[in-house]
Order: sequence, then C-alpha cells, then structure tokens
Amino acid sequence: MKDLSKLYIDGQWEDWAGETLDVHEAATGEVMARVPAAGRDEMERAIAAAHSAFDNWSESSLGERLKVLEQLLDGLKSRADEIAETVSREVGMPLKLAGQIQAGMPIVTTKTYLKLLPEFAFTEQVGNSEVQYAPVGVVGCITPWNYPLHQVMLKIVPAIAAGCTVVLKPSEIAPGTAFILAEILDQTDLPRGVFNMVCGLGQTAGDTLIKHPQVNMVSFTGSTRTGHLIAHAAADDFKRYALEMGGKSASVILPDADLKAAVKGTVNNCLLNSGQTCTALTRMLVPVSRHDEACELAAEAVAKMTPGNPLEETTRLGPLASAQQRDKVFDYIRLGQEEGATLVAGGAGAPDGLEQGYFAKATVFGNVKPDSRLAQEEIFGPVLCVIPYTDEAEAIRIANGTAYGLSGAVWSGDADKAKQVAGKLRTGQVFVNGGAFNPQAPFGGFGHSGVGREFGKWGLEEFLEVRSLQL
Ligand code: NAD
Repeated sequence: MKDLSKLYIDGQWEDWAGETLDVHEAATGEVMARVPAAGRDEMERAIAAAHSAFDNWSESSLGERLKVLEQLLDGLKSRADEIAETVSREVGMPLKLAGQIQAGMPIVTTKTYLKLLPEFAFTEQVGNSEVQYAPVGVVGCITPWNYPLHQVMLKIVPAIAAGCTVVLKPSEIAPGTAFILAEILDQTDLPRGVFNMVCGLGQTAGDTLIKHPQVNMVSFTGSTRTGHLIAHAAADDFKRYALEMGGKSASVILPDADLKAAVKGTVNNCLLNSGQTCTALTRMLVPVSRHDEACELAAEAVAKMTPGNPLEETTRLGPLASAQQRDKVFDYIRLGQEEGATLVAGGAGAPDGLEQGYFAKATVFGNVKPDSRLAQEEIFGPVLCVIPYTDEAEAIRIANGTAYGLSGAVWSGDADKAKQVAGKLRTGQVFVNGGAFNPQAPFGGFGHSGVGREFGKWGLEEFLEVRSLQL
C-alpha cells in the first residue's frame, strides 16, 4: 500500500498527520493507497501560496514557461508506465489502453501547449488600441476520477502557460497520478507557489477552494450536480469559471449507414473505460426497421469485450472505479427493466467469477423510450440504450432531447448528409462516420454539459482576461 499522506504547498512536501482517505483498487476492492483528508486550513495556506506567487509568475518570460513545460514533458515520459498502471488500478481501465490514453494524453497536452505558446499572440493591435491577454490570477482546479491525470493536465498546463498560479484538488477516488505530477513539477524550475496540491473531500477542501476570495477562477471537471454548486458559489463573488460536466451522447445511425460498422463504433465508444467516459455514446438511435438487427449486432459486439483484471493482457472490459459507482450502475439497470426497456445483453450483477472488486456486465437495452430516465440520465457505466426512431427529424429531436450536449456521432453512407445532420446536433463535438478524436480541436459542452472549452488555443484563452490600452 502506498502512503501518500502529504500535501504539496508553496514548493514543499508537507507530511500529513491528520485524517486520511482510502484509495481502493478497482479490480480487488483492496486499499492501495492513503491520501490526506485535508480541510480548510491547508487549502487556505495553499491559496495564500498561489496568491503570493502570482505577481512574479504572471510576468515570467516565454522562455521560462517553455522551459518548465519541457521539463514537465520529460518527467511525464519517464514515468508513463507508472502513470498507466496507477490509473489502471484506481479506475479499472485495461493497462494497454491506459498507456495509450491515460498516460498518453497528458504528454499530448503538454506538447500541444509547448507548440502553441510561442505562436499565441498575447497582444494585438486593434485600431488605436493594444489588446492584451493577461493571466486571470489564482485558479482553483477541481477534477474527477475517470481520466484523472488527463483532466488535471487540461487545466494545469494551459493555466501555468498563461501565467496563472494554481491550487489543485484532485479526485479523492483516483488521486495517485496527481501526486506523480506534483513530484515531477517539484523537480522542474517552476517557482514555488505556482503549483500547489491539496487532497481532500469536496465538501471541505473543495468547498474552501470554490468560495475563497483570493481564487479568481475555478476550473472544474466532474458531475453536473457539483458544477451547479460551483456556478452558484462563483456567482457570489463574480469569479470566472469553466465547467466540464456530464453527458448522455447520441450516436445517430441514419438508414443508409453501414449498420455493422456504426454499431461496432458506437459500442466501442460506449464501453471505453467501462463506460466511465463523459463523452460516451450511450444512446444509439437506429431506424425502427433495423432496431432488432442493431440490437443483435450490439449484443455480439459486447460479447467480445472480455471482462477481467485490467492488468491482464486479455482484458477488454475492466471494473468500475468504486463500489458506489458499481451500485449506481446496477440500480440503473434495474430501473431500465422497471421502465419496460428490453434487456438484450448483460444485467445487474458482476460477470461470472468477478464478484470481487467493482465489476459490472456490459449491458444493452433495446426499445428504450427517449424520455425514460434510462435514456435521460448519465449512468457512467457500461450500459448502452438502443432507441428506435421513425424519421430523420425525429432522430435529431431525440438526439437533442436531453439536458446535456457534450458529444455525439452521425453515421451515413453519404458523407455530406452525415455532416449536415451533425451540424444540427446541439453538442460540443460530433464524430462523423467514425472520425478520429482530435486533441487540437476545442472540447466542451452545450447546456448542462458545460461552460467554456478545453484543448488548444480555446483552452488557453479560458485562463486569460482581456485588457485594452487606448493609445
Ligand atoms: P464529482 O462532481 O462527484 O467530483 C468531481 C470533483 O469535485 C472531485 O474532486 C470532488 O471531490 C469535487 N467536489 C465534490 N463536491 C464538491 C463541492 N461541494 N465543492 C467543491 N468540490 C466538490 O464527479 P466525479 O464523480 O468525480 O466524476 C464523474 C463526473 O464527471 C461525471 O458526471 C462525468 O460525466 C464528469 N466528467 C466530465 C468530463 C468533461 O470533460 N465534460 C470529463 C470527465 C468526467
């Protein structure tokens, strides 16, 4: 078991002798680490450190910022295997995929800002005015557990690149990689106080961060419920905020699509990270005439997702991250049956032989009613809803018929048609005929899925205030 009872404040590691929180291994349920349940006092000290460091860092040169990012990149590369294994054990993602995504994306993000920073115009001339882009100040970063380091990096890297200082409160469920990041940053030339990390519960450590007057902005990824609390707290003090929240994304399969490819693409996306992905395509919309065929294809595709310990090579479907998450998923599966949807594959319960740990069966429901809770609420587990539609207008209405708007997909034999329908989806990104995820493109949600954008220049601009000098 790893002892992570420490805080990173003002460039120093501090031992923590107070209450701790257990971190569980998803595949076994065993305690794999302990982290601080830090509270208000520690968070206030971290905020004070970030506040003191701001003036100097906001005036740091491009060269100083790039040097730190280069050092960060080296550190991430050298610890990639450890990062992948930590996330795999904490969250349940199969190790090979965790290497590609959970350890790979932080590297991609760092490279993105290394390239973008020298190209970004921090000043521009507009008529007789010089428009300046200035760092927003102290940023409180609050992150979830499903892609734990990736989500931290999408905040920390552009914030530091913009000249902001940061206090991070990582998820208490999957905090291990935030400690690795702090260890890496500790070895760089980043001045003390620019990056601080305090681990604790949302209601105490997180609450202090979102309400503190010296925090100028809150950058949050997590549930819509917590995002709502943050927007309210920020409004009291007119803090800036960026929110990346939940989703219930639709995969719209048009009548002329290659059904087999579209179903396979949708199932793979839906089950990525055992469905613990905010952009998961959890609603598959199919023409009513092809509903039964689509259900059969989906059942065949999920049958190929061998469940097991994520550290084993043959595993394609790992466990969920916590007992609470698993139980929530089981409750939704029972609810789906009560609501009258047809259980096509899976069901509430662990796959055979995987009763230990937090496993759930890959589950497919057919004939799901678009307005049912199963089709409206984020489950965050390996559950696909197949929803029949009668015509294109109805498909678009169903796709847009939730409070969310994070992601989506459209499949058609006609590329122009697919693009045209994609343009009608009220969502932050749409995958057209299986187009690849692009980490340079803006990422974020409409409606209850979010406020603001991450990735690329859009992610950097979130951390900048605009000032104009009239000359
Ligand atoms: P969560 O909202 O429970 O927790 C997220 C973070 O907020 C944690 O660090 C938690 O400690 C903190 N928090 C909780 N209560 C708080 C409070 N009162 N004040 C301040 N901080 C508080 O979310 P989760 O369960 O960790 O993550 C899953 C959710 O995240 C899902 O809804 C998922 O869709 C969403 N998510 C969104 C994106 C995106 O980019 N849109 C990406 C990943 C996950």
